[in-house]
Amino acid sequence: MTDQISDDKDKKFGLWRDIFVDGIDIHDRINKRNLYGPVLLCIDTSVLTEGGISSIRVTKSNPQNWSSNSQEEERYFQTIDEFKYGYNYGDFQKMFVIPNGNGSIKFKEYLRKIVVDYIIPNGNQLWERAIEALKAAGKESKIDHIPIEKRNCTCECNCVQKYRMMQPKTLHKFFGLSNN
Ligand SMILES: [Zn+2]
Repeated sequence: MTDQISDDKDKKFGLWRDIFVDGIDIHDRINKRNLYGPVLLCIDTSVLTEGGISSIRVTKSNPQNWSSNSQEEERYFQTIDEFKYGYNYGDFQKMFVIPNGNGSIKFKEYLRKIVVDYIIPNGNQLWERAIEALKAAGKESKIDHIPIEKRNCTCECNCVQKYRMMQPKTLHKFFGLSNN
Protein backbone atom coordinates (compact mmCIF):
# COMPACT_ATOMS: atom_id res chain seq x y z
CA MET A 1 0.00 0.00 0.00
CA THR A 2 1.28 3.44 -0.93
CA ASP A 3 1.14 6.22 1.67
CA GLN A 4 -1.10 9.07 0.53
CA ILE A 5 -1.42 12.62 1.75
CA SER A 6 -5.15 11.92 2.04
CA ASP A 7 -4.66 9.08 4.55
CA ASP A 8 -5.74 11.13 7.57
CA LYS A 9 -8.81 12.44 5.78
CA ASP A 10 -9.69 8.95 4.52
CA LYS A 11 -9.73 7.76 8.13
CA LYS A 12 -11.78 10.77 9.21
CA PHE A 13 -14.39 10.29 6.47
CA GLY A 14 -14.69 6.53 7.03
CA LEU A 15 -12.98 5.65 3.73
CA TRP A 16 -9.82 4.15 5.13
CA ARG A 17 -10.69 0.52 4.44
CA ASP A 18 -12.61 1.12 1.20
CA ILE A 19 -11.26 0.34 -2.25
CA PHE A 20 -10.75 3.28 -4.60
CA VAL A 21 -10.87 2.68 -8.32
CA ASP A 22 -10.19 5.24 -11.02
CA GLY A 23 -12.27 5.27 -14.18
CA ILE A 24 -9.30 6.16 -16.38
CA ASP A 25 -5.54 5.77 -16.68
CA ILE A 26 -4.46 8.88 -14.77
CA HIS A 27 -0.81 8.68 -15.87
CA ASP A 28 -1.86 8.72 -19.50
CA ARG A 29 -4.48 11.42 -18.92
CA ILE A 30 -2.21 13.95 -17.20
CA ASN A 31 1.21 12.96 -18.55
CA LYS A 32 2.60 12.50 -15.07
CA ARG A 33 3.34 9.49 -12.94
CA ASN A 34 0.39 8.28 -10.90
CA LEU A 35 1.09 9.01 -7.24
CA TYR A 36 -0.49 5.67 -6.29
CA GLY A 37 2.42 3.85 -7.89
CA PRO A 38 3.90 2.59 -11.16
CA VAL A 39 1.72 -0.48 -11.67
CA LEU A 40 -1.69 -0.13 -13.32
CA LEU A 41 -4.18 -2.97 -13.10
CA CYS A 42 -6.72 -2.71 -15.93
CA ILE A 43 -9.97 -4.23 -14.78
CA ASP A 44 -12.93 -4.91 -17.05
CA THR A 45 -15.98 -2.88 -16.11
CA SER A 46 -18.08 -6.06 -16.13
CA VAL A 47 -16.72 -6.58 -12.61
CA LEU A 48 -19.33 -4.00 -11.57
CA THR A 49 -22.22 -6.19 -12.65
CA GLU A 50 -20.77 -9.67 -12.32
CA GLY A 51 -18.04 -9.45 -9.73
CA GLY A 52 -20.12 -9.84 -6.61
CA ILE A 53 -19.98 -6.14 -5.77
CA SER A 54 -23.17 -5.33 -3.91
CA SER A 55 -22.66 -1.58 -3.80
CA ILE A 56 -20.45 1.12 -5.22
CA ARG A 57 -20.38 4.86 -4.63
CA VAL A 58 -18.99 7.60 -6.85
CA THR A 59 -17.58 10.73 -5.31
CA LYS A 60 -18.36 14.15 -6.75
CA SER A 61 -14.85 15.37 -5.97
CA ASN A 62 -11.63 14.07 -4.52
CA PRO A 63 -12.23 13.26 -0.82
CA GLN A 64 -8.99 15.12 -0.16
CA ASN A 65 -10.95 18.30 -0.91
CA TRP A 66 -13.97 17.49 1.26
CA SER A 67 -14.65 19.72 4.22
CA SER A 68 -15.64 18.23 7.56
CA ASN A 69 -19.09 19.77 7.43
CA SER A 70 -19.97 18.85 3.84
CA GLN A 71 -23.08 16.73 3.48
CA GLU A 72 -23.39 13.24 2.02
CA GLU A 73 -25.10 14.64 -1.11
CA GLU A 74 -22.21 17.02 -1.69
CA ARG A 75 -19.75 14.13 -1.45
CA TYR A 76 -21.42 11.41 -3.49
CA PHE A 77 -23.70 11.16 -6.50
CA GLN A 78 -27.10 10.28 -5.11
CA THR A 79 -28.94 8.88 -8.12
CA ILE A 80 -28.14 7.24 -11.45
CA ASP A 81 -29.49 10.32 -13.26
CA GLU A 82 -27.28 12.63 -11.24
CA PHE A 83 -24.30 10.45 -12.10
CA LYS A 84 -25.29 10.30 -15.76
CA TYR A 85 -25.26 14.07 -16.12
CA GLY A 86 -22.52 14.86 -13.63
CA TYR A 87 -19.85 12.36 -14.63
CA ASN A 88 -17.82 12.43 -17.82
CA TYR A 89 -15.26 9.87 -18.86
CA GLY A 90 -11.94 11.41 -17.88
CA ASP A 91 -13.12 13.03 -14.64
CA PHE A 92 -10.37 11.66 -12.48
CA GLN A 93 -11.29 13.71 -9.42
CA LYS A 94 -14.49 11.67 -9.23
CA MET A 95 -13.67 8.31 -7.76
CA PHE A 96 -15.37 4.96 -7.62
CA VAL A 97 -15.44 3.70 -4.07
CA ILE A 98 -16.19 0.09 -3.26
CA PRO A 99 -17.10 -0.14 0.41
CA ASN A 100 -15.13 -2.61 2.42
CA GLY A 101 -18.38 -4.25 3.52
CA ASN A 102 -18.53 -6.02 0.15
CA GLY A 103 -16.22 -8.69 1.54
CA SER A 104 -13.89 -10.25 -0.98
CA ILE A 105 -14.11 -8.90 -4.51
CA LYS A 106 -13.24 -11.13 -7.44
CA PHE A 107 -11.06 -8.69 -9.33
CA LYS A 108 -8.80 -11.47 -10.53
CA GLU A 109 -11.26 -12.81 -13.10
CA TYR A 110 -11.71 -9.34 -14.56
CA LEU A 111 -8.07 -8.34 -14.73
CA ARG A 112 -7.24 -7.77 -18.40
CA LYS A 113 -3.69 -6.45 -18.35
CA ILE A 114 -1.01 -4.95 -16.14
CA VAL A 115 0.86 -1.86 -17.28
CA VAL A 116 4.12 -0.96 -15.59
CA ASP A 117 5.79 2.44 -15.85
CA TYR A 118 9.05 2.14 -17.72
CA ILE A 119 11.95 3.69 -15.94
CA ILE A 120 15.45 3.75 -17.29
CA PRO A 121 17.45 2.88 -14.22
CA ASN A 122 21.13 3.55 -13.92
CA GLY A 123 22.29 0.15 -14.99
CA ASN A 124 20.78 -1.74 -12.06
CA GLN A 125 18.00 -3.40 -14.06
CA LEU A 126 15.46 -2.25 -11.52
CA TRP A 127 12.61 -2.35 -14.03
CA GLU A 128 13.46 -5.82 -15.33
CA ARG A 129 13.63 -7.15 -11.79
CA ALA A 130 10.26 -5.58 -10.98
CA ILE A 131 8.74 -7.35 -14.00
CA GLU A 132 10.28 -10.65 -12.89
CA ALA A 133 8.83 -10.12 -9.40
CA LEU A 134 5.40 -9.38 -10.89
CA LYS A 135 5.58 -12.50 -13.07
CA ALA A 136 6.52 -14.62 -10.07
CA ALA A 137 3.63 -13.16 -8.04
CA GLY A 138 1.31 -13.76 -11.01
CA LYS A 139 2.35 -17.38 -11.18
CA GLU A 140 1.72 -17.84 -7.50
CA SER A 141 -1.74 -16.27 -7.82
CA LYS A 142 -2.47 -18.19 -11.04
CA ILE A 143 -2.80 -15.06 -13.13
CA ASP A 144 0.38 -15.52 -15.10
CA HIS A 145 -1.66 -15.53 -18.36
CA ILE A 146 -2.40 -11.81 -17.85
CA PRO A 147 -0.19 -9.71 -20.14
CA ILE A 148 2.27 -7.34 -18.49
CA GLU A 149 2.99 -4.33 -20.68
CA LYS A 150 5.60 -1.65 -20.61
CA ARG A 151 4.01 1.80 -20.43
CA ASN A 152 4.51 3.88 -23.53
CA CYS A 153 4.52 7.54 -22.58
CA THR A 154 4.20 10.53 -24.84
CA CYS A 155 7.18 12.82 -25.09
CA GLU A 156 5.33 15.35 -22.89
CA CYS A 157 5.29 12.95 -19.95
CA ASN A 158 7.78 13.70 -17.22
CA CYS A 159 7.58 10.41 -15.31
CA VAL A 160 11.07 9.14 -16.15
CA GLN A 161 12.55 12.46 -15.07
CA LYS A 162 10.59 12.28 -11.79
CA TYR A 163 11.62 8.67 -11.13
CA ARG A 164 15.24 9.62 -11.70
CA MET A 165 14.96 12.34 -9.06
CA MET A 166 13.58 9.91 -6.48
CA GLN A 167 15.57 8.63 -3.55
CA PRO A 168 16.73 5.05 -4.29
CA LYS A 169 14.79 3.81 -1.25
CA THR A 170 11.51 5.30 -2.56
CA LEU A 171 12.18 4.00 -6.06
CA HIS A 172 12.78 0.51 -4.72
CA LYS A 173 9.58 0.72 -2.69
CA PHE A 174 7.56 1.68 -5.76
CA PHE A 175 9.01 -1.13 -7.84
CA GLY A 176 8.47 -3.72 -5.16
CA LEU A 177 12.09 -4.39 -4.35
CA SER A 178 12.41 -2.78 -0.96
CA ASN A 179 13.84 -5.96 0.56
CA ASN A 180 16.67 -6.20 -1.97
ZN1 LIG B 1 4.95 8.66 -18.17
